[in-house]
Amino acid sequence: MLMTMEENLMAIKNEAISLILAAENLQSLEEIKLQFLGRKGKLTLLLKEITSIPTEDRARVGQLANEVKNAVEDTLDNQSAIIKDEVITTKKKAIDKTIPGVEPKIGHLHPMTHVISDVIDVFKQLGFQAADGPEIETDHYNFEVLNIPKDHPARDTQMTFYLDTRNSKTSPGEIILRTQTSAMQGRIMEKIKPPVRVIVPGKNFRYEQVDASHGFEFGQVEGFCVDKHIRLTDLFGTIDYVLKKLMGKDIKLKFATTNFPFVEPGVDTYIECTVCKGKGCNFCKHTGWSEMMPAGMIHPNVLKAVGYDPKEVSGFAFAIGLSRLVTLRYHMDDLRILTNPDLRILEQF
Ligand SMILES: [Zn+2]
Repeated sequence: MLMTMEENLMAIKNEAISLILAAENLQSLEEIKLQFLGRKGKLTLLLKEITSIPTEDRARVGQLANEVKNAVEDTLDNQSAIIKDEVITTKKKAIDKTIPGVEPKIGHLHPMTHVISDVIDVFKQLGFQAADGPEIETDHYNFEVLNIPKDHPARDTQMTFYLDTRNSKTSPGEIILRTQTSAMQGRIMEKIKPPVRVIVPGKNFRYEQVDASHGFEFGQVEGFCVDKHIRLTDLFGTIDYVLKKLMGKDIKLKFATTNFPFVEPGVDTYIECTVCKGKGCNFCKHTGWSEMMPAGMIHPNVLKAVGYDPKEVSGFAFAIGLSRLVTLRYHMDDLRILTNPDLRILEQF
């Protein structure tokens, strides 16, 4: 009984489609449509019978019935379009269908967009969520919360664009273009209690002389994780996993201590130069290594500033230079390509 239902459907489909393809005018198409899909059409009647078959088979047969119905309708539409087209062509003989059409230009994603979505995918596997934040930021979140008070020398390393506040109630120097995506740490941690794992991809701005390896705008992914018992080895494991996923499992990494005000201890991650394999070249300034990912354990002052208890929770933070990732992957020798809107350049990647 069941086989008959499915066989019936296929038989009706074959019959309908061969009739439709043989139809030469719109009137016969309309007749075929009635014959199968009309109120008393063959297919319509068969579809009504589906309710009477056993429940466990109904979904499968129902799906087949839908496919058959769609196939018949699609063929009807196509054939009707072909017939109409032929009518028009006969009326205006001037149209020559053999002339090749104009191929539409199809674009592709910007290399930076590709890399950002890859980075988000890798961190998702580790349970990180991606967040977005304002590029116009307050001094408070960009510096103060991150343990960089007004007179801290670290401010000298982040040449800052200050926004004009003369006609507003804001004090001078309070509103800036963010110099680091880390500015989102405070905003997020103030709102979410641990455990928290977040990455923030985005643009940063610093007042730099623009050349092949420096720009006043650069892409960065900031990330951080706060929970009970987070240790330095968790940070190492995370960096190792992420960079091997992004750059290939054969890369070599090394870690060195460094100093940033918002981490203690601070860690610098180096990747063996992918151009010279550690021998030394222009790209790695003849060191054999390329700086990839500053990181560290979040400073207790930062945790306190957002209302966390450093005795209860600990965490790590890191930043990945997106521009560096893009240039390494696409073998670009000039960072300015990334902000150049010239399609002739971008189409190469
Ligand atoms: Zn090198």
